[in-house]
Amino acid sequence: MPKSYIGLGSNLDNPELQLKSALAALNDIPETSLVQYSSLYRSRPLGPDNQPDFINAVALLTSGLTAMELLGRLHEIEDRQGRVRTGQRWGPRTLDLDILLYGDEVIDEDGLIVPHPGIRHRNFVLMPLLELDPKIEIPGLGKGEELLGSAGTEGITKIKTGE
Ligand code: AMP
Repeated sequence: MPKSYIGLGSNLDNPELQLKSALAALNDIPETSLVQYSSLYRSRPLGPDNQPDFINAVALLTSGLTAMELLGRLHEIEDRQGRVRTGQRWGPRTLDLDILLYGDEVIDEDGLIVPHPGIRHRNFVLMPLLELDPKIEIPGLGKGEELLGSAGTEGITKIKTGE
């Protein structure tokens, strides 16, 4: 079954608890298992800075679902955990779930781009991803380690060890 990496982020309503609930919910998706998850990281918000810091992590799943089916399930989890889609880009959110990688597939469909376009510049995605697989290659973009070298490690702190 394809391995997929999911990015988790929250900066409202007890972010650590939001991520904990989301990890349990990921494991409850049909035909899907949560294999491993990274430490939790605290990061400064992108965009509007008059909002709380984010807590971020990355989860590794195996799933028999297609990437599009998986995305539908992620949206259900976001909706259940009270995310309000305000339309404000980079605004505060109770839970954001992104498909970062889906096997080694490159997907560009309506509403789904994989590898996630944010990976490249976001240390809060690259650091937890590299923690799970230090040798990770991002299809079309190259070695994760080199991308993190360019993105830098400013504004991010590891706060809790993963499993
Ligand atoms: P955001 O507000 O950042 O969570 O963006 C959500 C929108 O991004 C949704 O409408 C998704 O359809 C779209 N999207 C495109 N590619 C991805 C991806 N790899 N993972 C999650 N959402 C994606």
